Amino acid sequence: MHEQDNALPAEPPSPSKQCSRCGATKLISAFYSNPSTVCKDCHNKASRFTGACRRAAIARLVSTHIAEYRALLAAERERRQHGQHTMPGGGSDVA
Ligand SMILES: [Zn+2]
Repeated sequence: MHEQDNALPAEPPSPSKQCSRCGATKLISAFYSNPSTVCKDCHNKASRFTGACRRAAIARLVSTHIAEYRALLAAERERRQHGQHTMPGGGSDVA
Protein backbone atom coordinates (compact mmCIF):
# COMPACT_ATOMS: atom_id res chain seq x y z
CA MET A 1 0.00 0.00 0.00
CA HIS A 2 1.35 3.35 -0.97
CA GLU A 3 -0.34 6.51 0.17
CA GLN A 4 0.15 9.71 -1.72
CA ASP A 5 0.73 12.90 0.15
CA ASN A 6 0.00 16.00 -1.89
CA ALA A 7 0.68 18.37 0.95
CA LEU A 8 4.34 18.73 0.00
CA PRO A 9 4.97 22.04 -1.78
CA ALA A 10 8.36 20.91 -3.05
CA GLU A 11 8.74 19.84 -6.64
CA PRO A 12 8.93 16.12 -7.29
CA PRO A 13 12.32 14.83 -8.45
CA SER A 14 10.76 13.06 -11.44
CA PRO A 15 10.34 15.06 -14.67
CA SER A 16 6.68 15.59 -14.04
CA LYS A 17 4.59 18.24 -12.42
CA GLN A 18 1.10 19.05 -11.37
CA CYS A 19 -1.24 21.03 -13.56
CA SER A 20 -2.52 24.05 -11.72
CA ARG A 21 -5.85 23.76 -13.49
CA CYS A 22 -6.91 20.11 -13.55
CA GLY A 23 -4.62 19.06 -10.72
CA ALA A 24 -3.28 16.04 -12.60
CA THR A 25 0.38 15.19 -12.30
CA LYS A 26 1.83 14.79 -15.77
CA LEU A 27 5.19 14.53 -17.45
CA ILE A 28 6.97 17.78 -18.25
CA SER A 29 6.44 16.98 -21.94
CA ALA A 30 2.70 17.30 -21.35
CA PHE A 31 3.20 20.98 -20.58
CA TYR A 32 4.00 23.89 -22.83
CA SER A 33 6.88 26.07 -21.78
CA ASN A 34 4.47 28.96 -21.49
CA PRO A 35 2.23 28.86 -19.55
CA SER A 36 4.27 26.27 -17.75
CA THR A 37 1.80 25.65 -14.96
CA VAL A 38 -1.06 24.42 -17.14
CA CYS A 39 -0.94 21.11 -18.99
CA LYS A 40 -1.41 20.97 -22.77
CA ASP A 41 -4.85 19.40 -22.42
CA CYS A 42 -6.10 22.23 -20.26
CA HIS A 43 -4.34 24.83 -22.39
CA ASN A 44 -5.84 23.44 -25.60
CA LYS A 45 -9.26 23.29 -24.02
CA ALA A 46 -8.94 26.89 -22.88
CA SER A 47 -7.73 27.97 -26.33
CA ARG A 48 -10.61 26.20 -28.01
CA PHE A 49 -13.02 27.74 -25.53
CA THR A 50 -11.59 31.20 -26.11
CA GLY A 51 -11.72 30.71 -29.87
CA ALA A 52 -15.31 29.49 -29.76
CA CYS A 53 -16.32 32.44 -27.59
CA ARG A 54 -14.62 34.89 -29.91
CA ARG A 55 -16.25 33.40 -32.98
CA ALA A 56 -19.64 33.43 -31.29
CA ALA A 57 -19.14 37.00 -30.15
CA ILE A 58 -18.07 38.11 -33.61
CA ALA A 59 -21.05 36.32 -35.16
CA ARG A 60 -23.31 38.15 -32.75
CA LEU A 61 -21.61 41.43 -33.45
CA VAL A 62 -22.04 40.87 -37.17
CA SER A 63 -25.70 39.96 -36.89
CA THR A 64 -26.32 42.98 -34.68
CA HIS A 65 -24.52 45.32 -37.05
CA ILE A 66 -25.10 43.49 -40.30
CA ALA A 67 -25.37 46.65 -42.39
CA GLU A 68 -22.09 48.04 -41.09
CA TYR A 69 -20.46 44.66 -41.46
CA ARG A 70 -21.53 44.38 -45.09
CA ALA A 71 -20.33 47.90 -45.78
CA LEU A 72 -16.96 47.19 -44.18
CA LEU A 73 -16.73 43.90 -46.04
CA ALA A 74 -17.45 45.60 -49.34
CA ALA A 75 -14.95 48.35 -48.56
CA GLU A 76 -12.29 45.82 -47.64
CA ARG A 77 -12.95 43.81 -50.77
CA GLU A 78 -12.67 46.91 -52.90
CA ARG A 79 -9.48 47.95 -51.17
CA ARG A 80 -7.87 44.59 -51.77
CA GLN A 81 -9.03 44.30 -55.34
CA HIS A 82 -7.36 47.58 -56.09
CA GLY A 83 -4.19 46.36 -54.45
CA GLN A 84 -4.15 49.09 -51.87
CA HIS A 85 -2.68 47.50 -48.80
CA THR A 86 -1.83 50.76 -47.17
CA MET A 87 -4.44 53.03 -45.72
CA PRO A 88 -4.95 56.10 -47.85
CA GLY A 89 -3.69 59.09 -45.95
CA GLY A 90 -6.50 61.51 -45.33
CA GLY A 91 -9.05 59.77 -47.51
CA SER A 92 -12.11 61.89 -48.07
CA ASP A 93 -14.59 59.46 -49.61
CA VAL A 94 -16.11 58.42 -46.29
CA ALA A 95 -18.02 60.87 -44.18
ZN1 LIG B 1 -4.44 20.19 -16.77
